[in-house]
Amino acid sequence: MKPIPTPKYSGAIMPRREAAAGASALALPYLSGYAPALQNQVRDWLQAGKAGEWLRRKYPQAHAVRTDKALYAYVDEIKAEYLRNAGQLHKVAYDSKIHVVRNALGLHTRRAIAHGGKLNARHEIHVATMFKQAPDAFLRMICVHELAHIRIMDHDKAFYQLCTHMEPDYHQLEFDVRFYLSYLDAGGEPLWT
Ligand SMILES: [Zn+2]
Repeated sequence: MKPIPTPKYSGAIMPRREAAAGASALALPYLSGYAPALQNQVRDWLQAGKAGEWLRRKYPQAHAVRTDKALYAYVDEIKAEYLRNAGQLHKVAYDSKIHVVRNALGLHTRRAIAHGGKLNARHEIHVATMFKQAPDAFLRMICVHELAHIRIMDHDKAFYQLCTHMEPDYHQLEFDVRFYLSYLDAGGEPLWT
């Protein structure tokens, strides 16, 4: 299988043209923001049963960030390097309540709290528990995404520029994560333990 050229997530929801094209077309909700030609390519790979092997060869190892404490340190280190003035992270945790559907891979929450007469934002980052058993690159992509939301709430151009500033390979990684989710969605076994 050839490497997948760096795709960009447009965030746009494509009309469900597959349904009209035939009942056998595999729906790819995690990849709906990508070009239809790329979605068709992914469909071929999934149906050929090669996706798992390709992913495991590209990412042979799972990361070792297995506790919330370790996750906090992991995220805090990225923040210290790229978003030094972003204030303190109140909480960083794996969250089993996040059901990975479409765009919700993680969650960033901001709550304004009055502190000594001024408003401070209280930032929390939650990462879907399934990313506890994943390659480092996947975890990094999720954490970079959620950290970028501290500065920018929308998924606009500036947001993705900040993501690629923190992780130059961001677009490829987001695609690979969504490719893995599509693989699981199509009935594949988890690839990392
Ligand atoms: Zn987001």
